[in-house]
Parts: sequence; structure tokens; C-alpha cells
Amino acid sequence: AKHNGKGCYQFYNASMGIGDLNHLAIEQSLHSALANGEFQLVYQPQLSLSTNTIVGSEALLRWYHPVMGSIPPDTFIPIAEQAGLIIPIGEWVLRTACKQAKKWQKLGYPAMRIAVNLSTRQFEQTNLASMTADILQETGLDPHYLELEITESMLMRNVEHAIECMEEIKDMGIDLAIDDFGTGYSSLSYLKRFPIDRLKIDRAFVSDIPQNGDDTAIVLAIIAMAHSLGLKVIAEGVETKSQMEYLADKCCDELQGFYFSPPLLPEEFTKLLKKQNFV
Ligand code: C2E
Ligand code: CA
Ligand code: CA
Ligand code: CA
Repeated sequence: AKHNGKGCYQFYNASMGIGDLNHLAIEQSLHSALANGEFQLVYQPQLSLSTNTIVGSEALLRWYHPVMGSIPPDTFIPIAEQAGLIIPIGEWVLRTACKQAKKWQKLGYPAMRIAVNLSTRQFEQTNLASMTADILQETGLDPHYLELEITESMLMRNVEHAIECMEEIKDMGIDLAIDDFGTGYSSLSYLKRFPIDRLKIDRAFVSDIPQNGDDTAIVLAIIAMAHSLGLKVIAEGVETKSQMEYLADKCCDELQGFYFSPPLLPEEFTKLLKKQNFV
């Protein structure tokens, strides 16, 4: 909301826009957010379409600023990325998610995969593999239960280097998924060279199925291509029963979306696991 009230922003340079002010305020606050404990992770379940059980979850970052309130990741993550703050924040995310996954395993729930988003800077960070190895050791999480999500654009910046990084991660026993698949510019010819396990079909292609003919064609093509390359497919942003039924019918492996569950606080997620397992 724009404030045009007299003198509202008089102490700022007149040429600065609201956007700049927000950006500045956010960047300033980001510096102390980690130390102040303002971050939290929520977990969105990933459902197997063949067994109808929760097989994984994606960790999603939340930031509650004491004054500005809740700031969405799409707003603050690019700023954290620019300011280099995504490195310590990303490390906190990875550690917290691995800790939580281990906690659920210790509570006796069937082992689930935990998916963590990586940003461009993190992916290009030279010590990504060793930092991840340290966190796995520290938390005691078996690497096979960790999946890292990367986007096509991150891979296309330097394909050869990306493949090397991915192979290093794969060799540790960690899974790799391509996030927002279909929205980037990755050449299909590279796909078979990337040591990946899973494609996440972007929400943009899911939201209008099964009505939209173009989108259904794209979704079907992605599923067929992934399976012929030996990859699993998960559809993101599934919001309706008809979307779910369509995807199940077309042999999509998994889904994630509001239809099954929004991202949940750890305690809420535990309740869902309890219900599923009748513990
Ligand atoms: P993303 O990785 O594509 O995450 C999926 C986003 O879709 C999440 O938004 C999730 O809440 C939302 N979503 C899930 N199901 C549905 C649905 O059925 N309908 C709709 N409309 N949306 C759904 P969120 O949590 O706001 O995150 C936005 C983006 O911020 C993420 O997109 C990811 O790119 C980034 N992000 C979030 N957490 C992290 C993190 O820990 N590290 C990094 N590097 N990026 C993160
Ligand atoms: Ca993601
Ligand atoms: Ca995504
Ligand atoms: Ca996204």
C-alpha cells in the first residue's frame, strides 16, 4: 500500500521508491534475522500416487519479522542471495531440515525423504559438498533421505561445472531434483547427462489440467520423457481432485500441493504422520 500522507517519507531521498526502501529495510533486517531466531521451516508433504502415503516433504523457509511481519521467501530470498546472506541462511535451512527428518525417523515413522531448496549461490559455493557432509554427520541423517532441489537456470549457467558438482553430491548418496521443471531453458539433450533422480513439474503446467489441452500435452510429455530416462516425476501445486486423478491416471509418481496439504509446522506434520500410521 502506498502512503501519500504528508511527510511520510520526508527523511528519505526523494528519488527513492517504495521498492528501494523495502529492499533496504529487508536487507538490513536479514543481517540479524538468523541470530534473532526469526526463521522457521515449514514442511509440505509429498504423496506417492501409487501407495497414497507420504513419502517425503519439502522444507520451505518462513521469516517472521517482529515489525514487518511475515515476509514471503519470493521477496527476501533474492535479496539474501544478492547480499550473500543466503550462504549462512541456506546452511541453517539444511541443518534444521536434516535435524527434523532425523527426529521423525527417531519417533518411528517410516523413513521419508526431505527435500531442501538450493539457491544459485549455494550451488556455486565451492564447499557445498563438504558443508553438506558435515551437516549429515552432525545430524546423523542417512544421505539417502536427503534430496536437494536445483533449478534448470542454475544448471545452465555453467553446464560442465554443474555436472561436476552434481556428481559430487550424487556420490555422497544424496538425491537431486530439478525444481520448476519446464519453466527454464535447459536443453533436453543435457537432461540425460545430469545425474538427477527426479523432475518436479512446475505448478504453471498443473493448474489448468485436465481442461487445458496444451498443458495436458506438456505434462504427458514430461512424464513420458522422465520415465524413459529412468527419472521419477512429482507434480507441484496440485490443488484439485481432478488434477490429482488425472496425474494418477497418467502414472505421475508423486504429488505435492494444497489439495493434499499446505506446508505445515513440524508439530502439525507430526500429527498428519500419526494419523497416516495410526500410531
Ligand atoms: P518452490 O521451491 O517452487 O516451492 C513451492 C512453492 O509453492 C512454495 O511457496 C509453496 O508454499 C507453494 N505451494 C505449494 N503447494 C501449492 C499449491 O497447491 N498451490 C499454490 N499456489 N502454491 C503452492 P513458498 O513457500 O512461498 O516458496 C516460494 C519459493 O521460495 C520456493 O518455490 C523457493 O524457490 C523459494 N524458497 C523457499 N524456501 C527456500 C529455502 O529454504 N531456500 C531457498 N534457496 N529457496 C527457498
Ligand atoms: Ca522447491
Ligand atoms: Ca517448485
Ligand atoms: Ca519456484
